[in-house]
Amino acid sequence: MAHPDYYKILGVPRSASPEDIKKAYKKLARKHHPDLNQGDAASESRFKDISVANEVLSDPEKRRNYDQHGDPAGPQSQPMPEGFSGFDIGDLFGSFMGGQGSPRRRGPERGEDLQRLVRISFQDAFKGTRLSFNVHRTETCLTCHGNGEGPGEKTTCRACNGKGQVERGSGFFRQKEPCEACGGAGKKGPACPTCQGRGRNPKQDTITVNIPQGIEEGQKLRLAAKGEAGRRGGGPGDLFLQIEVEKDPRFERRGANLYLTLPVSYTEAALGAKVDVPTPEGSSTIKVPPGTQSGAKLRLKEKGMPLPKSTHRGDLFAEVKVVTPTVQDERSKELLRELGELNDQHLRDQAWGQP
Ligand SMILES: [Zn+2]
Ligand SMILES: [Zn+2]
Repeated sequence: MAHPDYYKILGVPRSASPEDIKKAYKKLARKHHPDLNQGDAASESRFKDISVANEVLSDPEKRRNYDQHGDPAGPQSQPMPEGFSGFDIGDLFGSFMGGQGSPRRRGPERGEDLQRLVRISFQDAFKGTRLSFNVHRTETCLTCHGNGEGPGEKTTCRACNGKGQVERGSGFFRQKEPCEACGGAGKKGPACPTCQGRGRNPKQDTITVNIPQGIEEGQKLRLAAKGEAGRRGGGPGDLFLQIEVEKDPRFERRGANLYLTLPVSYTEAALGAKVDVPTPEGSSTIKVPPGTQSGAKLRLKEKGMPLPKSTHRGDLFAEVKVVTPTVQDERSKELLRELGELNDQHLRDQAWGQP
């Protein structure tokens, strides 16, 4: 009887620690519990699958059997299929290629890549930073050097009855694959006592990484060889850090350039002024020329974010927003009226011509 992929059901890697399994089970069981999903047949069957997967993977003995033989009950309970075995693609290719049906060996397998989200502040993205964090990964077992075998005499592999191959799939698409339990050799030693035959062990690793200045939201950093350990001599996978940068509410970032809105008073816009604007490293003075209109874009060169692999920086653009005064007192109103008479600019005539 073929057993389903219990790791997949719980959504955990094969290297998952007992705590990881417990956590994953609790989360899924809560979600699919029949009390919460009454009458939902799909949830009910999922809940059953989750429970069975947990029963196997949380029991060290059953898990070991399952990992090694594909059966939680151990190798004895797995009778070899007899009689008609369906259409065998492996044999077809074997004879087509002129092969002698010798078992293919499972070669080295590279470890899985790991992904991790890393959130940094706007300031850290500006200056660059050094981060340390913990990662749960696996490491090649030092006792058995990754082949999963302990000291002792090699015996016929019970998962494949010494054939070095197992059949996968069903009916028409039945296919032979190298046996995972013995790596296709047909013989194997007793399970390594350190890793229970898995060839790798869980490891809590502290990773330190330099985040370059100017890094942007959504960028990925690859840390070579910091993923899961490989199998049968394969190299480790990589660790990918996906970068999230917190926003600074004062700036809008586009690439290395920064944009901000600069409120300017009516008087400052008319007469010109020097005003302070924020930049990523404190404030800087910007000159508002006399007669500046709303929407004008003033540029502070090289006051934006650092450009990658460069000593240059992007620019900071300040978009002027002229704020109309809201006057209440008579004196101000009088002055403004007087000002209006002195500077009758015929604004709409200028815009549209005489109607
Ligand atoms: Zn080992
Ligand atoms: Zn085998």
